Amino acid sequence: MSTKKGIAILGSTGSIGTQALEVIESYPEYFDLQVITAGKNSDLLIEQAKKHKPNTVVIGDEMAYKKVKEALWEDNIHVYCGEEALCQVVESTEVHTVLTALVGYAGLKPTIHAIEAGKTIALANKETLVVAGEFITKLARERGVNIYPVDSEHSAIFQCLVGEFHNPIEKIYLTASGGPFRGFSYEQLKQVSLAQALKHPNWSMGAKITIDSATLMNKGLEVIEAKWLFNLKPEQIDVIVHPQSIVHSLVQFEDGSMKAQMGLPDMKLPIQFALTYPNRFKTEFPRFNFMNYPNLTFEAPDRTVFKNLDLAFKVMNMQGTAACSLNAANEVAVAAFLEEKISFLEIAQLNESIVNNSTNKLNPVYEDFVMADSLARQKAGELIK
Ligand code: NDP
Ligand code: MG
Repeated sequence: MSTKKGIAILGSTGSIGTQALEVIESYPEYFDLQVITAGKNSDLLIEQAKKHKPNTVVIGDEMAYKKVKEALWEDNIHVYCGEEALCQVVESTEVHTVLTALVGYAGLKPTIHAIEAGKTIALANKETLVVAGEFITKLARERGVNIYPVDSEHSAIFQCLVGEFHNPIEKIYLTASGGPFRGFSYEQLKQVSLAQALKHPNWSMGAKITIDSATLMNKGLEVIEAKWLFNLKPEQIDVIVHPQSIVHSLVQFEDGSMKAQMGLPDMKLPIQFALTYPNRFKTEFPRFNFMNYPNLTFEAPDRTVFKNLDLAFKVMNMQGTAACSLNAANEVAVAAFLEEKISFLEIAQLNESIVNNSTNKLNPVYEDFVMADSLARQKAGELIK
């Protein structure tokens, strides 16, 4: 077996996935790319496979299987398709770390398979912990599996905790850029367009998370993600808006000391740290210059206008399958907004309605999440019609 670290990237054609390939390409003596997977983008998957020469590729879309298989025939790359294949390839003995960069609920099942197979997880797919945080973290503990965060705020917290794992956390602050509609009133939000919502001020990301950032749902999902990653109580987690996105998050310890992690916004850094921890590898990423940022500012989020944030705190306190139902409603709502079937404000309205009208199953097992997800999607779909 190779001494290099075998990596599987689930969702290599996405925003995180493509940046992860850049990171891996920079350290050929350290990483061995084993698996890459795509949902529908077969052309990019083929291009990536020819360039990066993984051992295996998976295309989610079964209609595209033949095309990918034929294109990679002479490259000696194994090609599979469908959800089951996604779950099986992460179990390969050659894979050490699985980077979960799928978007949404689709990430849950392959992550469970990867943990069960004892693989280290570099977790970008926050929805997995939102949907089933207790279940996933318990499984990871039982299997002795580490979950390293890729999300920039959680990577920041994790970086602040290195060397401090024996010290209790008093509180964490997750920073939020505030998105493109920071400071907007409810009246102003009635008028906003899809194009405006897709323009994030500081980060270039996939469409779903970009909309989640504009509605503050992303920060709500991150609050739940943080609870599970760092084993916190809801009252230990706070959100602070920091429009410059330089301070990526903060930890407050029991002596009152606070540690923050800073840098220019660039997802390649947290992706790389999740793959190289506990080491830091030298990079050529642009460096932060204080003179370009004479003012770093902080303000409270507007929870009355951006209702998704409070909704996330509410489902976190409800426990059980409540967060799973919220996540499903939000995925349906964001997809409908991206198709211009509902307005910006209707996203939070739909989410609230589904949370209030879903049965919350406490102490859920895997099948309960599947059921809660499917019921919430069905109800949300009916409300949109
Ligand atoms: P993208 O939409 O850019 O990429 C998603 C990836 O998942 C693509 O490769 C896509 O394939 C694949 N995919 C989507 N649905 C399925 C499915 N049903 N089955 C198989 N594959 C699927 O998303 P991002 O990269 O922006 O985000 C990925 C995750 O990382 C999200 O959970 C997000 O919240 C999180 N994250 C992202 C950040 C960012 O900067 N982008 C920052 C922090 C967290 P294809 O395109 O081929 O269809
Ligand atoms: Mg984030």
